[in-house]
Amino acid sequence: MKYWTKGVLFTGAMWMGAVLHAQHCYWQQEVRYEMDIDMNVHTHQYDGHQRLWYINHSPDTLHQVFYHLYFNAFRKGSMMDMRNRTIADPHPKIGDKIRYITAGEEGWIRVERLRYRGKDVPFYEKGTILQVPLPEPILPGDTVLLEMKYRAQVPIQIRRSGRYNSEGIAYTMTQWYPKLCEYDEHGWHPTPYVGREFYGVWGDFTVRITIDTAFKIVATGILKNADASGVQPLKDPAKPLWTWIYEAQDVHDFAWSADPDYLIKRFVRDDGIVVQYAYQPGEATKHWEVLPEIMDFVFDYANAKYGKYPYPIYTFAQGGDGGMEYPMITMITGHRSLESLVGVSVHELMHSWYQGVLGFNESKYAWMDEGFTSYATTDIMHQVFPREPSSAPDIPEGAKELMELYLPPADNPFVKVLDRYIEYANSPYEEALCRHADHFRTNYAYGMGSYIKGQVFLYQLGGIIGEAQRDRGLRKFFYEWQFKHPTDEDFIRTMEKVSGIQLDWYLEYWIHRTSKIDYAIDSLWQERDGQAATAVRLVRVEEMPFPIDVELRLIDGRRYLYHIPLRIMFGHRPLEKGQYDGVQLLDDWPWTNPYYVMKLPFREDEIQAIIIDPLYKMADVRRNNNVLIVNSEN
Ligand SMILES: [Zn+2]
Repeated sequence: MKYWTKGVLFTGAMWMGAVLHAQHCYWQQEVRYEMDIDMNVHTHQYDGHQRLWYINHSPDTLHQVFYHLYFNAFRKGSMMDMRNRTIADPHPKIGDKIRYITAGEEGWIRVERLRYRGKDVPFYEKGTILQVPLPEPILPGDTVLLEMKYRAQVPIQIRRSGRYNSEGIAYTMTQWYPKLCEYDEHGWHPTPYVGREFYGVWGDFTVRITIDTAFKIVATGILKNADASGVQPLKDPAKPLWTWIYEAQDVHDFAWSADPDYLIKRFVRDDGIVVQYAYQPGEATKHWEVLPEIMDFVFDYANAKYGKYPYPIYTFAQGGDGGMEYPMITMITGHRSLESLVGVSVHELMHSWYQGVLGFNESKYAWMDEGFTSYATTDIMHQVFPREPSSAPDIPEGAKELMELYLPPADNPFVKVLDRYIEYANSPYEEALCRHADHFRTNYAYGMGSYIKGQVFLYQLGGIIGEAQRDRGLRKFFYEWQFKHPTDEDFIRTMEKVSGIQLDWYLEYWIHRTSKIDYAIDSLWQERDGQAATAVRLVRVEEMPFPIDVELRLIDGRRYLYHIPLRIMFGHRPLEKGQYDGVQLLDDWPWTNPYYVMKLPFREDEIQAIIIDPLYKMADVRRNNNVLIVNSEN
């Protein structure tokens, strides 16, 4: 489906027509890149000629534009270099490598000429950003041509892109061309390349790469001049070099990789989507042979659960320094065990949903980009390699009876993730997630926050609005916001719409703060009014409010579940009986009140135990105060 056809809503003065969509007055900028790249495989340098049509769908007059020049990060003294020399826990792949880089090894992009509206314009290089003041502004609705000539050098592989990675892949070409910065409702985003993350303008690419005939290329999009094999260009015997012509539509970035030893395997799925695998065949990459069958299952599962992959092709390419996602392609290292290979493949593929298609501003919402992707990865990996979680709650040794009462539910792969978050939340390093990805004080806080706490965000949503509603909301969000730039507020609105539950408080406490969840059983007493009734007083120990479940176990073996929603939710998740003899909704709990008294229609001597959050629906940081044994069985 072409974005451009829907783009009718966004053209010229028609941008206000977007109110017809779910997104009130939403607009976004648009690009069309045409690039000619001449790659010299002896000097590792390339000449680029870039014609960029930029369409200003914003209501604003633009007096300047910015480009990313990512490769300039790989020069001594760059912001990436300095950040890694000064941060408490430098990125292990970067460390002090940039400090000692030689001239022949460094990376750079040198813009030689830039023409705007047919005239040469001055430009200013500030590290990894090019600033271009415009002699004539770009008015709302204008389409302008920015034509650029540049020369660039591919750095040795240090982080993500570069030449000759640790497994010998010749060129990983990611963050490699002068890329226009995004302009949105918050203005320009000229984010220097310090470590992460990426944000681009939606549009179309035509890229013609001319390279020595020994090299094979895989890239974002479709090879337009393919021969019958589908993976090589038609050859011109008269020419010493080949030109690979790639086209991609409705994407916000373009990446490619090249290697003389690539084996490129091509599979056509039942739904017509082509899935490619490009790797150096050999003992170290033997598991790539079974990857297609597994990933075919993963595509089916992800399409059904998270929304249908909308592009015609996807390529898993050996390259890079671990795993990194790009539109329609990922670069992953290939010398891995089967489970590790599948794990990285699933994670990077799922970024097609949470970054590729839902183009989050990764700098602002790293927890959505990595958190949602990690959530889907945990879910899918459990389908591919099912196993029970090994973790047990944090209960003092010797309390065997407690342990037995409060085992984590089998078959829930997220219990381990909760444990990892709890360890982080109890450390001194936690930072609020509403932070620019480069500005976390430590790499540890960025990693645990965005991958783990971000993942717990989605998991816990199941406990708040119900798992089926959450999953339905994820699909609705995917279809309503595909090929756009949704924000955290947009996500919460979608979830409020599918559930009918107010959720602003969840963003406030989980994302904007470092509040923790800890509920406990404070006391229990037999009511003296002649009734068979017991009162249980619950206490919110930590700051964050959360709807809670309380299990009642009776001596006779019956088990009941009580659900206490928060008053600020103005609703509650659908309650299912499940394994219980009964389930009951109790009065809501105002967040202002630290205590809550629940009345149980049983005598104290009938009760075996009371358990808070028996189904592990929340990341309670102290589970050892969640169980009260009223009468021991023996
Ligand atoms: Zn990721």
